[in-house]
Amino acid sequence: MKNKEAKIFFSLIITVAILFVIVVIFGDKVNESAVPAAAETTQTTQPPKQEVSVNFISAGDNLIHDGIYKQAAKRAGGTGAYDFSYCYENVAEIVSKADVATINQETVIAKSFDPSGYPTFNSPHEVGDEIVKIGFDVINLANNHMLDKGAKGMRENIEYWDSQTSVTHTGSYKNEEDVNRVEYIESNGMKIGLVGITQYTNGLYLPKDSELRIIYSDNEELIQKKITEAKKECDIVLVNVHWGIEYQTSPNDDQRALAKKMSDWGADVIIGHHPHVLEPIEFIERDDGSRTLVVYSLGNFISQQNKPSRVIGGMVQYTVTKDKTSGRVTVSNVKFVPTITHYVQGVDDVKIYLLSQYTDALAAKQRNRLGSQKFSLDYINSFLSDVIDSQFYDTGIQKASEENTTKEVSTAKETTTVKETTTAKKSQTSTTKKAAETTTEKAAESTSKAPEESTTAKKAA
Ligand SMILES: [Zn+2]
Repeated sequence: MKNKEAKIFFSLIITVAILFVIVVIFGDKVNESAVPAAAETTQTTQPPKQEVSVNFISAGDNLIHDGIYKQAAKRAGGTGAYDFSYCYENVAEIVSKADVATINQETVIAKSFDPSGYPTFNSPHEVGDEIVKIGFDVINLANNHMLDKGAKGMRENIEYWDSQTSVTHTGSYKNEEDVNRVEYIESNGMKIGLVGITQYTNGLYLPKDSELRIIYSDNEELIQKKITEAKKECDIVLVNVHWGIEYQTSPNDDQRALAKKMSDWGADVIIGHHPHVLEPIEFIERDDGSRTLVVYSLGNFISQQNKPSRVIGGMVQYTVTKDKTSGRVTVSNVKFVPTITHYVQGVDDVKIYLLSQYTDALAAKQRNRLGSQKFSLDYINSFLSDVIDSQFYDTGIQKASEENTTKEVSTAKETTTVKETTTAKKSQTSTTKKAAETTTEKAAESTSKAPEESTTAKKAA
């Protein structure tokens, strides 16, 4: 009996052990089949869609003086058309790479008026066609020149930009309904709300009975309404604002106060224009820790202005990410890309260069026009390091420029040569000479009563 009991006991132990193993294996199989299925479901329905990012680039004032469209007329071979491609060919690639590229179109495009320069600008439509062609998506029309050709010119400008169906314009409105709608552009599944504001219209105003609408910067009630409603309907809000004091490289108290308010109302990015020189890039922090990117002024994108600080402009690249679950918006990867408008008086060569393409030899060629023998890469870098916080811009990027000067035989060569030496230049540290003469010259520029946006000493009519 003992033997039999032992056998039964042993059999029971074996049976229990087998059952245990089966349960463990079966259980594992169940887990194997259930858990990954759940994970797959989660992966395909949630995480990849939670965060959406859009890469932006924003440019400053596209200020078309008469020399720029006359050059474009010559480049079109005197056919009556205009070819602006030369002006923008150095920046076309960087603009086209962004998901959304924005620009301030400073001059109206009004077809029933002849082209004109300072002080009341009107530009051939080919300049608009060109900036669309190189990849700009958002065209800001709110600025101090929007009434240069009166209400009629403003209406025709809106009509021209309406006809460019691949882009969205902001800041110039047909009527009350138009100014009150939520403006937006979509990219990467993100809805980007737009608002365009100007502080000035150069003493010109719409007739009282005009249906057209402009958002002036002192109309805070309307600005708050626009930003709040855009914030509700869109993922993020981008404001273009034409403000500040010409030729001042620091924002004034009014700009700072309005920026803070717009941040509180919900603006995620504020791109400033108008001073014709650069002003700082900053983040405004809200009480909840979220931040608004403010670029107080991007300076001139292109112009024929004739002072060193006014040919130094730039574009700003930034990424805006929205967490669709929490609703949180983050602006990151902010990078300032300096540009130089190059123009030698008497030569039809008005063109934007990335600073990474520019050289001392080129700078020397426009010194006479700029009235400064100090205009050089050192001058440019010193100016930039004074205005743009180094967290947004590598101020050492151009220091080895002297090495390039012997290689500037032709424009074609410059482009390739400079590309090759960019890496070397990046690794060098700029010993930015805060030279007294630089400061003095800049101070003189900002206090001088130079006629607004003039290339000559012409007086505003
Ligand atoms: Zn302006």
